[in-house]
Amino acid sequence: MSYSSVSRTYWFPLGAQVKWGAPAVGDVVALDHEAWRVVEVTDLDPANWRDVDRLYPAGKQKAVRLRPVRLVNEPDPVKAASADVHYGALHVGTWRVFPDPEHYPVCVCCGTPMPCRVEVGRKIAEDAVKLMGRYEMPGACPACEQPVTARQRSLTFAENLKVPGGPPVTFHLRGKCIGTAQQYEKLWVKQDPESRRHRLSCTGHLTNHNDGTYDCTALTDCPGPIARHTAYSMCSCPDCHARPWTWGNGCHPDSKAVRNAGEAS
Ligand SMILES: [Zn+2]
Ligand SMILES: [Zn+2]
Ligand SMILES: [Zn+2]
Ligand SMILES: [Zn+2]
Repeated sequence: MSYSSVSRTYWFPLGAQVKWGAPAVGDVVALDHEAWRVVEVTDLDPANWRDVDRLYPAGKQKAVRLRPVRLVNEPDPVKAASADVHYGALHVGTWRVFPDPEHYPVCVCCGTPMPCRVEVGRKIAEDAVKLMGRYEMPGACPACEQPVTARQRSLTFAENLKVPGGPPVTFHLRGKCIGTAQQYEKLWVKQDPESRRHRLSCTGHLTNHNDGTYDCTALTDCPGPIARHTAYSMCSCPDCHARPWTWGNGCHPDSKAVRNAGEAS
């Protein structure tokens, strides 16, 4: 028997419920923007499993039951006759099941479960426009939509990558905004890797000390302690560990930490 694995693009149909394990015969389930009726659920002989089905190491496999599920497309009997679908369903994992198989919300334009593909596409487009709006306000941080004051630590990019001809883009360098700023910087560097340098991320391995200093394997290329680093660790100096850790949060340095001028840890 051949069957495909369930692909789960994120989409939650209106009126459906999450069900763990294989659905039951007669259930109507939503999958890839369509409704399907379950016509058969079987236990598959482990001898017929494919390699990808063996999630657990040999010897532990009996803990998993593989239950192929045969589905027919619900509103379309012609399609149902020609394409019944076999899904490999482990008893772990979830399905979206309509509690009442005779009544579930469908879109009037296309007859598929709501929100339909068209509706989802429109929502994505709307979100993109809203997101663009965040890059049109000079002096406001796109991450939090609040103004950036002179006293706040911030970083400005002269190039507006989101709105052609738009104003310079300024981000706060505080916890809730810095992630968005780092993503923006990544795009910004990608546009001109020869002359633009990362200031918010570092390829080095940072070691934090308990005295307000840090080391970084990137040496002089390191943009500083607020940059997101590839790896972090705490130092192993006996001095640093002799007192309660007060500088930064374990391996993460204080934002005002300075380069360790002394020996490497
Ligand atoms: Zn529709
Ligand atoms: Zn902000
Ligand atoms: Zn140390
Ligand atoms: Zn660094």
